[in-house]
Amino acid sequence: MIVLTVISVFLVIAAIAFFYQPTYAVSLNGELIGYTENKSELQNKINQYMEGNTEEGVAFRQIDSVPEYTLCLLKKDITPNDDEIYAKVTENGTQYYKYYAITDDKEEKLYVATFEEAEEVIEQLKEKDSVNKDDIGIVEKYDTATKEFTSVEKCVSKLYEKPQPKVVYTASSSTSSATGRSYSKVDIGITLIRPVSGIITSRYGSRESIRSSSHGGLDIATSSGTPIKAAASGTVNYAGYNGSYGYMIKISHGNGVETVYAHCSQLIASQGQAVSQGQVIAKVGSTGNSTGPHLHFEVRVNGVLQNPQNYVY
Ligand SMILES: [Zn+2]
Repeated sequence: MIVLTVISVFLVIAAIAFFYQPTYAVSLNGELIGYTENKSELQNKINQYMEGNTEEGVAFRQIDSVPEYTLCLLKKDITPNDDEIYAKVTENGTQYYKYYAITDDKEEKLYVATFEEAEEVIEQLKEKDSVNKDDIGIVEKYDTATKEFTSVEKCVSKLYEKPQPKVVYTASSSTSSATGRSYSKVDIGITLIRPVSGIITSRYGSRESIRSSSHGGLDIATSSGTPIKAAASGTVNYAGYNGSYGYMIKISHGNGVETVYAHCSQLIASQGQAVSQGQVIAKVGSTGNSTGPHLHFEVRVNGVLQNPQNYVY
């Protein structure tokens, strides 16, 4: 008898479980918002929404609170309203978009929608041997607002840094040594003054045992420390130690005209400085290939040495 009762109760329960679709009351923040007969389907739909699977580019969404389900048995006149529940649960959801920032030296520069695009940008910059190729990075971004995306092609052209030809800075290249000697007088368009007063000890074009080629400048001997004046106004485009020239100043006067002051004991003007005619730029010395204190003075036009005595002394 007991066994029969147990079996029949079990059968009834099984039948109910088989035919009866359980209904759930759904509440949000403790407030009843409706009923569903398809709890798993509804929750699945909400999960899809939260995972961002319903829209391209959305990484995930946050909802203020998750719905709670309470099984309600044998409740009559209940109308399930899954769509309303879904709408209520998701109405205040926050969307998080996923995209990729391309960084240069850790600074976000441009944005693309997919990781593949970001990788492609880096790949192309590497192929082109862009100078910054090792500083480019990808950062995965999550944000409530999306960014303006840039195409791979545009990213590459915006980020590309052309490799500079390797320049070896040597004294001779930075001073652009003269390429030739002129023996005729050319019009340099400016008037030069004497940088120092003294005794001319070696003229332009003279051949001496101290040099393998003819003399490219004019030597004026005077005591060490004598102030050297700029022969004309211009911009100092070299101030430094330059091999056989010793401490030297070069001034550009424009139109390819330059003057050089070599063997100085002290430099006063510095590279890049604008100087006026007569301004003291250095002091006489005997640095470099020199046998005694003197100024070696050169006049160059477009890199070609000129006879200084065509213009001064
Ligand atoms: Zn000289």
